[in-house]
Amino acid sequence: PAKTMDELVSLCKRRGFIFQGSEIYGGMQGAYDYGPLGIELKNNLKAAWWRSMVYERDDVEGLDAAIVQNKHVYKYSGHEDTFTDPMVDCHECKSRLRADHMKDIKVCDNCGSTNVTEPRDFNLMFKTNVGPMVNEDSYTYLRPETAQGIFTNFKNVVDSTSRTLPFGIAQIGKSFRNEITPRNFIFRVREFEQMELEFFCKPGEDEKWHEFWVGARKQWWLDQGLAEENIQFEYVTGDDLSHYSKSTVDILYKFPHGFEELEGVANRTDYDLGSHTKAQDEFDITAKVKKNEHSTAKLAIRDLEANKWEIPFCIEPSAGLDRGLLAVMTEAYTEEELPNGSTRTVLKFKPHLAPIKVAIMPLKKNKPEIVALAKELKNKLQKLGLGRILYENTGNVGKGYRRHDEVGTPICVTVDFDSIEKEGAPVTVRDRDTMEQIVVNAADLPAYVINYFIN
Ligand code: ATP
Repeated sequence: PAKTMDELVSLCKRRGFIFQGSEIYGGMQGAYDYGPLGIELKNNLKAAWWRSMVYERDDVEGLDAAIVQNKHVYKYSGHEDTFTDPMVDCHECKSRLRADHMKDIKVCDNCGSTNVTEPRDFNLMFKTNVGPMVNEDSYTYLRPETAQGIFTNFKNVVDSTSRTLPFGIAQIGKSFRNEITPRNFIFRVREFEQMELEFFCKPGEDEKWHEFWVGARKQWWLDQGLAEENIQFEYVTGDDLSHYSKSTVDILYKFPHGFEELEGVANRTDYDLGSHTKAQDEFDITAKVKKNEHSTAKLAIRDLEANKWEIPFCIEPSAGLDRGLLAVMTEAYTEEELPNGSTRTVLKFKPHLAPIKVAIMPLKKNKPEIVALAKELKNKLQKLGLGRILYENTGNVGKGYRRHDEVGTPICVTVDFDSIEKEGAPVTVRDRDTMEQIVVNAADLPAYVINYFIN
């Protein structure tokens, strides 16, 4: 794995994974842009999550709700009142700091001064104006989590799918938090993506499902290539629990800057649906909720056995896509010493995550038959639907191997003179991890590639 953030940052920029946002204007803190390979990796990680959370289960539906929603969503969700981080000002260097790690120390981590204010609450939501009129009522917020769109659509999804408990709703999308101190590359940023599941169950079955999801989510991260010894659980208690949570287990990963939260699995009880439902008095809501004067829908489901309407409990595994990508890159980053004394950098991604699945390289740039066969193979493999297959005609296969090691391409295929002269059109297939090369006939290449990626 990568030892320092700097080596990752530098590889990400050099090879086109991640760039500083607004870089040509001096950058913008807490915002990053995903480049040609970053977007592929991101899409692959999202697809793996969706596959496991939606397609491989028959009790989860998908959703893509709007980012900008009615401000009442955040009034009743509790975010307007409580979605804050403690902040201190340093009198010495005039910086503002997120204070939760300074609970006891009270030292500015920018300049070391002890001349700092008492912590005060800072709301992390971005406020924005909606519509052409600017007045007291024309504001709302950019969503700080995707979850609220799931709760507000609860009735729509139940009515349109006839779901009964337990079932879940999954969503991937952007969230925004005006973090006081964004830092550690894409670990803490102001605009990021979340992959969230809200899993609804009967009250009383919540603890069982909470435990289930903690285990399932850890297994999923292992399946993305993270090593067991780099994952830890943290049981969140007391003051650190969010306003909606009965209990939370954080899944931590050993990032280059230490063990930190990758995903939180929270038992949100009946807090959210209970907060957003109309006719709150008709239900036995266990969570402490604000009296709702605006909702137009009952967010309840019929319990067929008891023959009554009830508000389910909710278990939420909430993962950060950007943090996930950082974890996967950290883990995949490998520097290897080769027998000839040189070193190579390899990103040992799991095949399903690799931004480029196969690179096809003609040995000679200007030999029309070689070029034609290479292009034909590219088109054939592309049609398999595995992801990006790259035809790359630089005429330097050695350099190509090095570059593709560095971006984690599992397979490189070289088309050479043998390919156009010998029967069966043999091509050379080179493996990223073992660096071994084998010869495969052109007609057998699709089956070879499918077998590699599907197993
Ligand atoms: P932290 O304590 O690190 O601020 P959090 O506990 O506030 O995180 P949650 O509200 O549980 O985070 O959000 C769920 C997930 O969303 C986190 O586990 C993380 O992966 C991701 N996430 C939250 N805030 C950020 C951020 N500022 N930048 C990138 N990812 C984030």
